[in-house]
Amino acid sequence: MPRALFAIASLATLLAVGSTTVPLASADTPASAPSVATSAAPGTAAAQSTDGASVIAATIDDLQSWWAQQLPDVYSRDYEPIPDNRLIAYSESDPPPACGGRGTTPYQEVAGNAFYCSEGDFIAWDEQVLFPRLERKFGSFAVALVLAHEWGHAIQARTNTSLNATVYLETQADCFAGSWARHVEHDDVSLSIGRVDRDIALAGFLEFRDPPGVDPSQQGAHGNAFDRVSAFQDGFDDGTDRCARYESNPPEVTETGFSSQEEYASGGDLPLDETIKLLRPDLDDYWSIELDGASPVKDVVSDSGSSCDGTSDGGVLVDDVTYCTSDDVVHYDTGALERIYEASGDFGAGMVLAAAWSSGALDQMGRSVTSDAAHTRADCLTGSWAGDVARGVRARDRGNDAISLSPGDLDEGIATFVSLGEGNGGAFARVAAFRKGFFKGTGACTA
Ligand SMILES: [Zn+2]
Repeated sequence: MPRALFAIASLATLLAVGSTTVPLASADTPASAPSVATSAAPGTAAAQSTDGASVIAATIDDLQSWWAQQLPDVYSRDYEPIPDNRLIAYSESDPPPACGGRGTTPYQEVAGNAFYCSEGDFIAWDEQVLFPRLERKFGSFAVALVLAHEWGHAIQARTNTSLNATVYLETQADCFAGSWARHVEHDDVSLSIGRVDRDIALAGFLEFRDPPGVDPSQQGAHGNAFDRVSAFQDGFDDGTDRCARYESNPPEVTETGFSSQEEYASGGDLPLDETIKLLRPDLDDYWSIELDGASPVKDVVSDSGSSCDGTSDGGVLVDDVTYCTSDDVVHYDTGALERIYEASGDFGAGMVLAAAWSSGALDQMGRSVTSDAAHTRADCLTGSWAGDVARGVRARDRGNDAISLSPGDLDEGIATFVSLGEGNGGAFARVAAFRKGFFKGTGACTA
């Protein structure tokens, strides 16, 4: 949408990235993530936190042995382990070594962060603020993933990987972390971290994403949450091989800078009613092209005044925004939509409505709209629409003032899946379906 909801963090913080230090996140203050609808019950996290040190030790052990096997397999070279004395926990009273110099790095520069330093070949993390916060908020697996990401940078140093923008180095490190996470899950590695929670990984990327509006070509850019999640899923789905190929075949990056000072300055969302007003013709237009002129949705009706007499899709993302097959009407509860808008911005609310159009499209194709598989297809079709909007080709071709995406919008989409996507396979699987449509179009969703 033309405006993004998320408050815009100071862009100045992004410039403070040293050329040899590779921090976990570019901003000193992470963006706020929505509440996480995952299985990480507070009790579980508390139980895990009693032995945070053992989680770190077990993660490090496993990363060393996993890379000792992966590096020869994928890069045909032997792995040189990172010695214990170059795995450094730091705090305000015990700051990390300087990266590329003598003495220490001032704690203030790296507070709440973690980084790999290529000059000293060391990984360092804030054990005072970062790890306790991650563990409290997401559980131990988030801590393990931070280490896996930083390890990815150590691998880049060992393989002399050169990519022409930091965003590719960062997403490749995320990809490596995804490949490692799959190994932990599939090889049933005992890390004393509880089960691998992919949805926690999603929520974590919302925490460490760049703030909206970062130009991905700028030094220090890490990618928005959508890009980082995409990379993580690349690794999770296709393994370390895929990550290695980023060097010759980098992934599509969706992060964009603000298109104008005005857009940067406003930083707010479109109002909800305006969002709905703009969305309807855009969704109608998109689906009429995809469905050869057919129009899957005849009307959009708010509130419970009218109900669906026939079959409804049951709500793809929420129960109270539904598509009704008997009259091709989208019904939505205003309060529910407002809550989503408040939590996840205009694109979050728009995506929930777009999902109803996706059911309409499936109905038009003579497919089921009610099963779990149908909802997965709807997630995918919603992604195909979002991809079309993001690329803006249709808007340009048709010369209408169709909607466009603002920096931050796709991350609102990730946030929506994180907060609403606990059903039907979980947020991670649903984002994967959305991405499939986003990158491959409607045909990939219904094949
Ligand atoms: Zn990094």
